[in-house]
Amino acid sequence: MNTLQRKMKQDFESKALFDQARLYAFEYLDNIEDMDVFPSEKNLEGLNHFDVPLQQDTIDAKEVIHELNTFGAPGTIAQIGGKYHGFVNGGVVPASLGAKWLSDVWDQCGGLYLTSPVNAKLEEVCESWLKDIFDLPKETVAGFVSGTSMANLCGLAAARFQLLKNLGWDVHENGLNGAPNLRILAHQQVHASVKKTLAMLGYGKNSIEWLEADDQGRLVLDALPKLDNSCLVLLQAGNANTGSFDDFDTVCDIANEVGAWVHIDGAFGLWARATKALAYLTKGMEKASSWAVDGHKTLNTPYDSGIIMCRYPDAMISALQASGEYIIYSEQRDPLLYTPELSKRSRAIELWATMKYLGKDGIDQMVTTFYERAKQLATGLEEIGYQVINEVVFNQVLISCGSEENTKNVITCIQQSGEAWLGGTIWQGKPAIRISICSWMTNEKDIEDLISLFEKVRS
Ligand SMILES: *Cc1c(COP(=O)(O)O)cnc(C)c1O
Repeated sequence: MNTLQRKMKQDFESKALFDQARLYAFEYLDNIEDMDVFPSEKNLEGLNHFDVPLQQDTIDAKEVIHELNTFGAPGTIAQIGGKYHGFVNGGVVPASLGAKWLSDVWDQCGGLYLTSPVNAKLEEVCESWLKDIFDLPKETVAGFVSGTSMANLCGLAAARFQLLKNLGWDVHENGLNGAPNLRILAHQQVHASVKKTLAMLGYGKNSIEWLEADDQGRLVLDALPKLDNSCLVLLQAGNANTGSFDDFDTVCDIANEVGAWVHIDGAFGLWARATKALAYLTKGMEKASSWAVDGHKTLNTPYDSGIIMCRYPDAMISALQASGEYIIYSEQRDPLLYTPELSKRSRAIELWATMKYLGKDGIDQMVTTFYERAKQLATGLEEIGYQVINEVVFNQVLISCGSEENTKNVITCIQQSGEAWLGGTIWQGKPAIRISICSWMTNEKDIEDLISLFEKVRS
């Protein structure tokens, strides 16, 4: 054993390094409700401390962790607390964090059954639980990926493969040059990640049939042209601004009659299906061909959790392999068949832990509470004279303060207060404040505080 090996072995065995990391982590958790929701200027400047050339020598492991805690922790946003409402970022369920810690130590390569039997098993279990929660057809398969962007990519690759196959073209053998044209139909309010994904698959924005969306960001049904079996229709469960849902029931019926493919981007909204009160928003979604959803938003798993579900296993498995020869259905589940990756984190572990911990009722309650807090906020802000410009059907609230200047001013004041964080957006050509409720920690008091903050910063 050389000196370096001896040093590393000692670091593993003494565990002092891990104890230190644990203490810092506990300190962070204890402080989460009091820290600035977004780092102060001073703390952001502290990040410049990392700007040094890599030194020559090996250093002490505890020093590494110490430096990370001293300059890195103050440069974090309080993502896991109850006062961060930017974008649509979720918090983190305690059991999922614990499971991640434990499985980080296992460091499993999740690609094959052979490289991680436990991950393969938990993927299987998660797949079956998700099908149950979302009430999807029994033939549906799920792939566990980094987020909904990647889930969309997988779903649309499956759609491309299958639709072209139906038209007599093998896209893996022959590529896209000379392939029959697919008709891609999307409304103007699909998420940016969908546009990016389509472009990556060879369908740039000028090759899409753009359809009209209404003032909530839903497809206008009258705008839907006659479909055929070369059509891929993109729908959305949860518009990233308004939280609105497309009419899956109607569109899927039309699409299924002619053999078109419907993909639903449900990054955060698909979870409405897991509740009694809000499931109505997803009526008919089980009739689609593929669904993309995040664990790390509404379900509050740690980051790096997206899921693609597809009712046509052959299409998905074929689309994600370099060639048909790779398709070997082994006795056990080989996760790589369902994702573009080979080596990958065993991310099903945290997903499993989150669902196991919450149970069906816990998931229902957590998601429904986001909606209740969003309603509380919308009502409270209206009472003090702000204009709520969306129908609050899920967890998103859009606020207008009249002029562009006022809106920007309110956003800046709240962001700089350190007491909450929310972002701006442009809705229907006008600047708006966008608030997302999706951390389990956000409670009535946090919303009351946020309403007071809005009252205080009003110019
Ligand atoms: C967040 C989001 C995405 C992208 O998901 P990531 O997990 O960030 O990759 C796609 N669609 C919608 C509607 C989203 O809200």
